[in-house]
Amino acid sequence: MEFITKALPASKRVALIAHDNRKDAIVDWCLRHRPLLEKHQLLATGTTGGKIEGATGLDVHKLLSGPLGGDQQVGARISEGEVDLLIFFWDPFEPMPHDPDVKALLRIAAAWNIPVACNSSSADMIVQSALMDRAFDREVPNYQRYLKQR
Ligand code: PGA
Repeated sequence: MEFITKALPASKRVALIAHDNRKDAIVDWCLRHRPLLEKHQLLATGTTGGKIEGATGLDVHKLLSGPLGGDQQVGARISEGEVDLLIFFWDPFEPMPHDPDVKALLRIAAAWNIPVACNSSSADMIVQSALMDRAFDREVPNYQRYLKQR
């Protein structure tokens, strides 16, 4: 695979997802970082988004619920360059019926090289980074070259 440089924008499109046992944690995290989050565009899986909106008053674009396709919708948006940061509080202690979707989502986030936080300490570090409020370059697959080679 060949790569090209592509910038993540200063104003980030942030995807928020939490498994059921982690929903209170993501709501607390959003409350703590509310002033920062309101400067960015938020999207979330259905239930997570509803809980965040209800607790924080933040504007959250809500996709389908995760087990009904919401994780895959987030993955599709990452592939299409429409998500810049993934905050995904997944539950390491419970098996999930939509485990394949979770794995696919994490894989596609790695493939398109967007920042990913899977727990609150990683999420704290990412949103407090100097890069949170400015554009920065990262390597992504060179899709045009990829198509040509095939
Ligand atoms: P939910 O989905 O926000 O709709 O609960 C999250 C998930 O379990 O993937």
